[in-house]
Amino acid sequence: MGYRSIKKISTSMPALEGAGVHLKRAFGNRELPLFDPFLMLDDFRSDNPEHYRKGFPWHPHRGIETITYVLKGDVEHRDSLGNKGVITSGDVQWMTAGSGIIHQEMTRGDQAGHMEGFQLWLNLPASRKMMDPRYRDVKAAGIPTVTLPEGTEIKVISGRVGEVQGPVQDVVSEPEYLDVSLPAAAIFEHPTKPGHTVFAYVIEGSGYFDAAKQKPAANEDLVLFEDGDKIVVTAGDEPVRFLLLSGRPIGEPVAWRGPVVMNTQEELREAFRDYDQGTFIRHEAA
Ligand code: FE
Repeated sequence: MGYRSIKKISTSMPALEGAGVHLKRAFGNRELPLFDPFLMLDDFRSDNPEHYRKGFPWHPHRGIETITYVLKGDVEHRDSLGNKGVITSGDVQWMTAGSGIIHQEMTRGDQAGHMEGFQLWLNLPASRKMMDPRYRDVKAAGIPTVTLPEGTEIKVISGRVGEVQGPVQDVVSEPEYLDVSLPAAAIFEHPTKPGHTVFAYVIEGSGYFDAAKQKPAANEDLVLFEDGDKIVVTAGDEPVRFLLLSGRPIGEPVAWRGPVVMNTQEELREAFRDYDQGTFIRHEAA
């Protein structure tokens, strides 16, 4: 099949979420179903504590997984079952809401006031939407880094690079989540499963994401690829760092309201009725 060409490059857009967090949305419900099995990617990097200090107080989730990757500062997490913890620099929290979790996520910058993080939403198929909730908390030290001869560094959160397997496994859509840093002028080739959705979100510098080097993308740009069995990225005169995601599309109807994503409107009504009646939590999270 060869190299994937680029279907679309876009730039993340300002959005207001939680209790008043100013963030950038790379994609969301307006792009459905383009990124299937992924639903949304939010970029909450900011040097202004006023932009993030209100955080994301108590809210429910059902039918999805939320994946939080923090580069600077802390996200203090707690849920209605008493689980709590801090997601700090380099850590990933891979949370499967399944049948339901009610939680809060409070963004706390570092001592210099910097907050950097990303939240990705991954859909669950109908057969798994009501699965028992689970957390996979991966500390920075548990994420392997592959270093290539040119100096390229790849953090493997999920999926595989060469012989190195990421810590998050057994996810139904076989997602791959890599954090890739290329020095200036370096070239990165990576195999991708045909038929899977593949996109890159640039978080530093700029580079080319197509084999012909016709289409540069820079910080805050989102690159969605066409089908193919590999990608090639070339850094320009400066280094480039990007998140690389792939996953098998689910191909089911999506009924989405706020933090709940189901297949039908009736399932949405049921979710919000459960929430209003205090019966949202079906299973105690581990
Ligand atoms: Fe949440």
